[in-house]
Amino acid sequence: MTRAAAPARAALAVTLALVVAAGCGGGSGSAASSDQATDTTATTEVPTTTEPSTTTTDAPPTTEAPAPPAPPAPPTTRSLPAATGPLTHVAGRTIALDAGHNGGNAAHSAEINAQVDAGNGVMKACDTAGTAGDDGYAEFQFTLSVAQAVRDELVASGAHVVMVRDDSAGWGPCITQRAAVGNAAHADAALSIHADGNLAAGARGFHVILPAVAAGGSGVVAASASLGHDIRDQVATTGMPASNYIGSGGLITRGDLGGLNLSTVPKVFIECGNMRQATDLAMLEDPAWRARLAHAIAAGFDTYLAG
Ligand code: ZN
Repeated sequence: MTRAAAPARAALAVTLALVVAAGCGGGSGSAASSDQATDTTATTEVPTTTEPSTTTTDAPPTTEAPAPPAPPAPPTTRSLPAATGPLTHVAGRTIALDAGHNGGNAAHSAEINAQVDAGNGVMKACDTAGTAGDDGYAEFQFTLSVAQAVRDELVASGAHVVMVRDDSAGWGPCITQRAAVGNAAHADAALSIHADGNLAAGARGFHVILPAVAAGGSGVVAASASLGHDIRDQVATTGMPASNYIGSGGLITRGDLGGLNLSTVPKVFIECGNMRQATDLAMLEDPAWRARLAHAIAAGFDTYLAG
């Protein structure tokens, strides 16, 4: 632990109550426990589920202090080192993309608060409203924008892409259905896209969420970890630092997310940044940065599928 870690943990604890009400998903009351909500509400997992067996390989020491402005990279490649160039391994493969939340969720609180079986012994709300930036930029807008950009790039490289949603006109679907889309497609890989809503002062950065369990069994859990590492490595090239408030090196493992628990295919979540932090929000709102992010995510799939 560094000097920075203890105050950060203290701040996290102090602000936990606020985070529960305002995290990714932004729900109040029971909604705070739902799958898509408050990815940072699972703060009880922070100290115990940060991949103890893999910490030595998660080289970027980005959780001990705010990440450096440039990611560690070979000296000959300064920006988007592996994310440049054509994708060569996604052709003919099937990828499922889940844009978190939906535009109609806030107006359908009864429907999205219905409890569903999220797997792993967890009951959760069907879906949640999602968070938003202080200026009103909504998480459901961001997630769809990114999902569509990733989709376009993957399709251009010959992949078959299935989308959980392709507009923001409806509500849900429930987390059970979000997992079922990738399962039914027998996807080679799947990703649920989010942005976080952590209110802790100075809380910045992205993190990828790996499954602790999966309906597909231990093989799917292991494959998901590989996918998550590949996506993490690529997103680290975009200039968004790895999270300084949750997980380790931009990764955390969780067993409370239905979208992961119920998956029979390799799947991870990504929280692309913190919408409640001004620097992160400016990046999340920047179309040029979102294009870099989408390219990085696509390259992460490509790297994974090459393995
Ligand atoms: Zn979310």
